Amino acid sequence: MEKINRRTFNIKLTQAMAGAALLSNIPLSYGLNSGKQDKKLGIALVGLGGYSGGQLAPALLKAEHCYLAGIVTGTPSKEKEWMDKYSISKENVYNYENFDEIAKNKAIDIVYVVLPNSMHAEFCIRAAKAGKHVITEKPMAVSVAECDAIIKACNDAGVKLGVGYRMQTDPYTNEIKRLVAEKPMGEVQYISSDAGFVSANNPTQWRLNKTLSGGGALMDMGVYAIQSSIYGAGANPVSIAAQEFKTRPDYFVGVDESITAQMKFSNNVVGNMFTSYNANANRLFVSFRRGWAELNPCHSYGPLSGRTSRGEEIKFPYERHYQQTIQMDSFAKHVLTGSTNFAPGEMGKRDIIIVEAIYKSIKEGGKTIPLDLGDMGIVKV
Ligand code: NAD
Repeated sequence: MEKINRRTFNIKLTQAMAGAALLSNIPLSYGLNSGKQDKKLGIALVGLGGYSGGQLAPALLKAEHCYLAGIVTGTPSKEKEWMDKYSISKENVYNYENFDEIAKNKAIDIVYVVLPNSMHAEFCIRAAKAGKHVITEKPMAVSVAECDAIIKACNDAGVKLGVGYRMQTDPYTNEIKRLVAEKPMGEVQYISSDAGFVSANNPTQWRLNKTLSGGGALMDMGVYAIQSSIYGAGANPVSIAAQEFKTRPDYFVGVDESITAQMKFSNNVVGNMFTSYNANANRLFVSFRRGWAELNPCHSYGPLSGRTSRGEEIKFPYERHYQQTIQMDSFAKHVLTGSTNFAPGEMGKRDIIIVEAIYKSIKEGGKTIPLDLGDMGIVKV
């Protein structure tokens, strides 16, 4: 049967990203370090593993308002490789020991921490004390107390703080936020969000070491399901109950494998989330009073895909690394002009409050845990 009202969203990427739009209109004279290369902000990546090398560094080559100026690595053999590949000068290369000297380096405006989760807090705090703006990868840290310490350090130093939530500036996410806010299909009533992948054949990796990761699937992928649950519901949860399932206890030792959680939101939406290290899951379903919208895939690097019950396809142009380019440009614009920070520290902390509530619920046999978040971390687009 022919779909009615079929409409393809075909908006240019830069036009599509609410808030991050019109980046090209930033007056370059706002640059903090006038006279620097194209007046872009210099970013130093801390930790040159899979995400830095595979996504962030190539994304920075395409950014308009920031560039890869420096690196911080604990692996000496990576120094020359990265210097050659990304034309990084020797004075902008640091290791974990001499990192604090970055305070004297005017070429570095932003430090982006891309280390195992339990190392985020230490390096964010050291970066803030060095007077640098900070982006920390997700999860923001491994406890609420650590999130508080990062936020305090950034406030004390008067520097900006962002979390590496690339979905918050993604056009697909923004289209869901628009449907939730403008209500063309009525109020949201139910959401379901899943984020997981199958982890195999690498039991010694840091992600399965609780000291380094802070937890299993929930810390790593669960934060995506928490995030999309909240923008899908258009509000924060007021209570959560959770259950854990372990089907491969020999492989997932000391960290969670699969978790389901049920949420009630402050606007009476109810929701269900799932996260796993033993099942592929990558989806958001939003049920409105008069229809539904779905993203599947929803949280990955793209191409993403979406549709609504009205026969509309949700579709935006795809280019490799576009999410990371938009995310870092958006943060650089925030630093340069005071524009909206779409993934502030408060949002990262809120998600860790929810993570801690989920672990508490599991520990207490699935008990419903009340949450008093107000509008914490909700950023209006
Ligand atoms: P990775 O294992 O590929 O890289 C980790 C880096 O940390 C390596 O360079 C390693 O040398 C360094 N390191 C320093 N001390 C270490 C230690 N004690 N043990 C292990 N490694 C150590 O990890 P990754 O995938 O690049 O993840 C890094 C961070 O980025 C994590 O917080 C992760 O959640 C986040 N991440 C985010 C996304 C995203 O889409 N936003 C995607 C992947 C990873």
